[in-house]
Amino acid sequence: MYQPMTSKNKAAAQRTAPWAKPMPKKQFDFMREILAAPSPIGLEGAMTYGVIKPNFDRIKPKSWAVQQFKGNAGIVLDTHPRDDEKPSVMFIGHADKIRLQVRSIGSDGKIWVNSDSFLPCTLIGHEVKLFSQKPKKPGQYRVIEGGTIEALGAIHFSEPAQRTGDKGIKGDMLFLELQLHGEKCKERVEALGIRPGDPIILNRPIRKGFTEDTFYGAYLDNGLGCFMVAELAKLLAKKPLKNIRVLHTIATHEEIGRMGASAIAGEMKPDILIGADVNHDYDAAPGLSAKRMNNLSMGKGFSLTNGSITSAYINSIIEKACRKANIPYQIDFAGRDTGTDAMAASLAGVDSAATSIGFPIRNMHTISETGHTLDVLAAVHGMEAMLREMDKMNRGKGLNRKDLLNEHPRLDEAKEA
Ligand SMILES: [Zn+2]
Repeated sequence: MYQPMTSKNKAAAQRTAPWAKPMPKKQFDFMREILAAPSPIGLEGAMTYGVIKPNFDRIKPKSWAVQQFKGNAGIVLDTHPRDDEKPSVMFIGHADKIRLQVRSIGSDGKIWVNSDSFLPCTLIGHEVKLFSQKPKKPGQYRVIEGGTIEALGAIHFSEPAQRTGDKGIKGDMLFLELQLHGEKCKERVEALGIRPGDPIILNRPIRKGFTEDTFYGAYLDNGLGCFMVAELAKLLAKKPLKNIRVLHTIATHEEIGRMGASAIAGEMKPDILIGADVNHDYDAAPGLSAKRMNNLSMGKGFSLTNGSITSAYINSIIEKACRKANIPYQIDFAGRDTGTDAMAASLAGVDSAATSIGFPIRNMHTISETGHTLDVLAAVHGMEAMLREMDKMNRGKGLNRKDLLNEHPRLDEAKEA
């Protein structure tokens, strides 16, 4: 018999819930390993094949299978391969990391770079890793460390406006300093095999922050989404679902237009699609108060997006499941575009009920992205709770496709308040 929780029991349950406790060390180390994988856009294999596939292979029951793709390094852990009868739910994190790219090599050995999705002024002084191929052996990659991103050099040579901050750093001023000096600098750099388009990523694996349960470093975007998908798979492997097929997806190319997830959604045509990505901690964002954004704060739960292409029905199932289990979540909204892989089915022209979940972080697209373990764990357990609800629907037969067809909200039937 169902025993409603008293508020005293509820408070105790809250303290012992996995999201309310510090993340265990083993789990934090796995999160760190995912986030540290060198997986720039288009070269995501380090995360998908290097870290996550071995994990999938280790945890998966025999009947589950990992699907691979020709045009991208994404992977999908499928709980019911080839079973097209069961409705499918695809969860997507993206493995690609924003990167700088080599643009040209100067005669003095400076490597001029494009900053892409980074704010140029946030890059100065950071240690990076440059990946290039052996000049005579295309396809064999090498990593070059020991360089920093620079633009201005010494304050002693700067203009007054740069000293006051009135004049900033333009993208085309950035270069990678590899400390070359002496003769034939350009030739020596070229001899290393460095050429235009080579990716450069920030070198700062995450660390625990000063404040409890926080962490910071590069590339929470979007190792966190991938970690969430992998942890969800772990929970489902221990207690598999009966009626729902789950497609745990680690996608690619999100940061340049979500092409990886679109290709995979187009191939696998999921009935339900949930994108998991970082979101903004608006409450703490410097200079944003005048814009009167909705409240969203790290440490208060995962975010659930209303609006854009998100399905009101799927969102309502998530909210009900989280309320029942006291899992903290916060509401965000989007107008036209969620800005995440939640758009993948729409972009692929596939009919799928989608939504977007996230982890509010600070300083997105910088070396010091800052997050909170509670939000990540709440997302993992929130998604598990949603799936278990779906699995039980229709008197134990599970959610079916007809529910998706017939549960579109009807505002003409809205009652007067
Ligand atoms: Zn991003």
